[in-house]
Amino acid sequence: MSTSPALLELLAPGSWQNDAACRDADPELFFSNDDADRETALAMCAECPVRTECLEQALATRESYGIWGGTDEQERKRLLRRRRRAA
Ligand code: SF4
Repeated sequence: MSTSPALLELLAPGSWQNDAACRDADPELFFSNDDADRETALAMCAECPVRTECLEQALATRESYGIWGGTDEQERKRLLRRRRRAA
């Protein structure tokens, strides 16, 4: 895994990714198994102005690995389950 959410802007210039707090961050922080790295990534997400957009994209594309929109893999699975039940 080598692409951070912000780096996806390369695929979609001009979109919400341009405002991502992780734009210039080390992508490995978002895909690391190290707790300290993950905490650093989550702290960045907490301050990110496009957190909602990022999370919605991760849910829509069923991102199964990494920190996206302030959530980890397990949190996204729970969110998707909750939404399915509510639908
Ligand atoms: S919410 Fe987190 S992962 Fe998503 S763009 Fe912002 S800083 Fe990056």
